[in-house]
Amino acid sequence: MSVKGLLIVVSGPSGAGKGTVMKGILERDPNIRLSISATTRRPRETEQDGVHYFFKTREEFLALVDKKGFLEYAQVYDQYYGTPRAFVEEQLDAGRDVLLEIDVQGGMNVKKAFPEAVTVFLAPPSMTELERRIRFADTGTRDNIETRLEWARQEIAQIPRYGYCIVNDDINGSVEALAAIIRAEKLACWRRPELTQNILEGAMDQ
Ligand code: 5GP
Repeated sequence: MSVKGLLIVVSGPSGAGKGTVMKGILERDPNIRLSISATTRRPRETEQDGVHYFFKTREEFLALVDKKGFLEYAQVYDQYYGTPRAFVEEQLDAGRDVLLEIDVQGGMNVKKAFPEAVTVFLAPPSMTELERRIRFADTGTRDNIETRLEWARQEIAQIPRYGYCIVNDDINGSVEALAAIIRAEKLACWRRPELTQNILEGAMDQ
């Protein structure tokens, strides 16, 4: 795949505030597109098919896996989640940056397949704060909360495998930090093999 845009993976436990930070960066930067994942889990009350997720049956999901329709997929909390391949490739080829909000298994698979991807971990300020947020957001059972906390601990243990970590104690600050990471990554010399030649020819416009 010849990549023109930046592939940006954002992972972090439920309750770290990924959704809000994603919304902030999408509002701020018109060149970024958010990949909409497919999942077998049931929609929550406020979720719409094709907006928050593409909701699939297990059979539909596994048929897409067989057709190599996913860039990556993983099982999270006993449900399947996957990144539809075509959208991401089209957007990157068109020069747009693509955000994947996916779990750490997916994040590490993307990194293996696309070493040029930018990986960002969004961490909660503390486990106490994370627990408070999960309890506040949760409409399900106690098990659900305990499961999410245990997943959170396992995800946090993977932080060293990510390129960047943002501690989300302030939404605006986190959006700023993510924008700074994207800006800096775009200036990396290795992403711009034509740079030296352009400067020598006086062809740079910035
Ligand atoms: P939720 O059910 O709370 O929307 O998401 C649960 C977890 O699945 C989150 O950590 C979220 O980032 C992750 N997730 C969402 N979409 C994908 C995907 O396409 N691939 C992978 N690997 N994880 C995903």
